[in-house]
Amino acid sequence: MGKGTSITCQDCLWTRHFYFGVGFSDCSLESYLEARESPLLPVVKDLIVKHGKGKEEVYDDAVATCRECAAIWETEFIYVMWEDAFHYSYPDQCPTCVSKQLEVLDESLFESMVKEQRLVCPLCKSHQLKISSRMLWD
Ligand SMILES: [Zn+2]
Ligand SMILES: [Zn+2]
Repeated sequence: MGKGTSITCQDCLWTRHFYFGVGFSDCSLESYLEARESPLLPVVKDLIVKHGKGKEEVYDDAVATCRECAAIWETEFIYVMWEDAFHYSYPDQCPTCVSKQLEVLDESLFESMVKEQRLVCPLCKSHQLKISSRMLWD
């Protein structure tokens, strides 16, 4: 089962569809990554072997945006905390410009960013992005 939201730039017609999976809350971080065939799986497995299961684990499908270059991409969001000063989080940098100035948005935050015109078109840097369609399937 999944959900999706498309956004379109009213100025240059850049359109992108974003998927948000649902129903991952009752599986482990490792099975979430397995289901996603994520390249992060060996990294996370290695950390768990070394440090044990995290005290706090957050993981979900998300959309990330870069404050430097306005790139917008779909990503797995992962945050694992072992001790107060030791954690692993992903994504940690922009794949386009390597900036670390990222915002990671879940579905509702993503939609409100679009509605409040706080999201910038990666192509023409316009703020005129609109939700153009929504999908739900199982
Ligand atoms: Zn645009
Ligand atoms: Zn960037």
